[in-house]
Amino acid sequence: MVKIPMTTPIVEMDGDEMTRIIWKMIKDELLLPYVDLKTEYYDLGLPHRDETDDAVTHEAAAANRRLGVGVKCATITANAQRVEEYHLKRMYPSPNATIRAALDGTVFRAPIIVKGIEPLVPSWKAPITVARHAYGDIYKGVEFRVPGPGKVTMTMETADGATTSLVHEYQGPGIALATHNTVASIQSFARSCFEYALSTHQDLWFAAKDTILKVYDGEFKEIFQSIFDADYKDRFAAAGIGYEYTLIDDAIARVMRSQGGFIWACKNYDGDVMSDMIATAFGSLAMMTSVLVSPEGNYEFEAAHGTVTRHYYRHFRGEATSTNAVATIFAWTGALHKRGELDGNQALCDFAKKLERATIATIESGRMTGDLAASSTLPGKTVLNTQEFIKAIKETLETM
Ligand code: NAP
Ligand code: MG
Repeated sequence: MVKIPMTTPIVEMDGDEMTRIIWKMIKDELLLPYVDLKTEYYDLGLPHRDETDDAVTHEAAAANRRLGVGVKCATITANAQRVEEYHLKRMYPSPNATIRAALDGTVFRAPIIVKGIEPLVPSWKAPITVARHAYGDIYKGVEFRVPGPGKVTMTMETADGATTSLVHEYQGPGIALATHNTVASIQSFARSCFEYALSTHQDLWFAAKDTILKVYDGEFKEIFQSIFDADYKDRFAAAGIGYEYTLIDDAIARVMRSQGGFIWACKNYDGDVMSDMIATAFGSLAMMTSVLVSPEGNYEFEAAHGTVTRHYYRHFRGEATSTNAVATIFAWTGALHKRGELDGNQALCDFAKKLERATIATIESGRMTGDLAASSTLPGKTVLNTQEFIKAIKETLETM
């Protein structure tokens, strides 16, 4: 069989534990036999990050900026216990945080929908993608306890002098909090959202609370609108998609009554909370994809789950595991499809979509991993182990 050729390589970031095992199985069974796979390989597994003093993570992030498209396996975020377990030289930062900082991106999370695993909200027919602003607000908040009566003020100092605003005059004890954001970060967030909406042909909603935070959330609203009007209005119209700002209360009411199929851009805290609600309501974290999109249009695809440590130790002891490979397969298909799109390689785009259909068809035929079997309403399900599930997808793919 002639393999599908590729022109530009994808940045391949290998990872840790069970997802590293799955990574190799996916490549061997589902990709290498069909695609003349071109990748620039970076081993982000914890031992190699330690050997290179984490330089490999920075090199991978730079490669992602250079080549435009990357795919990343789940990685261990080091903590005190991991430092001991892996005899690390030091406690490295989360690779995702390093890559996010280098690409200055926004993370988009979307569920993969299959028959038999029904969303808790019956009207939802298509995925709802949550875009979370990943900088500032309460995550960089400065908070303190007010011990007793007194004034809390905020002061802005510039070269020309200082202006002070009264926060509250306390009659007794209390608490106070200051949060911030920057125009540059909000602009990047907005551009990433507009780029992603165009790239996935979906409507974009941005929701905040500008009726209460007239300046703070008003600035977000204003920045989104002015960038949209200047740079995206015509492109959205040509693509047949829309952008609208809506009050967050109204957005929630509309999300619950919607059929799905749109992107919901959220401020940092709203995105943190709402993405967990959406993931749970659609069924499973193992069926969630995640893509980091930079304002310049660089893409990094991954699964939303971690390295599935408990399954890895079972695998290590020689026991069969039933780890769900779907989100990792979709990270690869997302990256291959985007690469195909950028390179005008239709055969590669078609293959990516076919592998996605084969994955879904396999589950819908009743062959699935244990986590899915536990929540699927399909009759006559068969629980497969990790390897059998990937082989079953290959079988389906070969008949398509
Ligand atoms: P996790 O790896 O997502 O796993 C938590 C549990 O969720 C698993 O034990 C398993 O439950 C279930 N699960 C998750 N993915 C699954 C899959 N594909 N198939 C079947 N079941 C799945 O989260 P964690 O245990 O909190 O974190 C483990 C390691 O991953 C940590 O070192 C963390 O730093 C890292 N992590 C990395 C990323 C990333 O790279 N993006 C994200 C999150 C966490 P059962 O055991 O009950 O079957
Ligand atoms: Mg959360």
